[in-house]
Amino acid sequence: MLKIGVLALQGNVIEHVKAMQKASEACGIEAQVVQARDAQDLEGLDAIILPGGESTTLSLLLERAGMLGLLKEINAIFGTCAGLILMAKKANGKIEGQKGLELMDVEIDRNAYGSQLDSFESVLSCALLDDEKIMFIRAPKIKSIGAGVNVLAKLPDGGAAIIEQEKEGKYYLGAACHPEMSTCKIHEYFLQKAKEMKKG
Ligand code: GLN
Repeated sequence: MLKIGVLALQGNVIEHVKAMQKASEACGIEAQVVQARDAQDLEGLDAIILPGGESTTLSLLLERAGMLGLLKEINAIFGTCAGLILMAKKANGKIEGQKGLELMDVEIDRNAYGSQLDSFESVLSCALLDDEKIMFIRAPKIKSIGAGVNVLAKLPDGGAAIIEQEKEGKYYLGAACHPEMSTCKIHEYFLQKAKEMKKG
């Protein structure tokens, strides 16, 4: 049984809990899904999801709760939207003092498509997905990726939408969009990766 956390400080928490529970049933990998609200809740997690929301707020709350350093010790991390901003080595448009985990070798532009009103949905070119429309809510753009980063899903304009990286024995998955709103297939993929990382 895997123990999967969903960071539950702010943002799209319940959608991820439900998508992960569905994914567990769909792919037959047993998982206990827990909401992580403080440092203690991170103990014993095999993987964690960092939901979308507002990266400035999330960063502040994580720092206050003393969770930033502990998150970095988790073997598999899946960040969506604001979660991806937290995971990026470089995120442009951060506010002063906004701290991140800086785990993935990518450069991200925050709020690159404009305001909340410029949110959109799109079918992605991705071997894991069919023709589900995936939502981009006040989304960041993945500007550039480092050598070890693999693109799993692309937008129609060719831009990266979902990326992954294995680094120093850990696995990172990042989405500029919100797959949890329309499918659990990306969660299934993450669960399989989390299982592999647990085996070592
Ligand atoms: N615009 C938000 C930020 O910069 C991210 C939006 C989202 O997570 N849907 O943190």
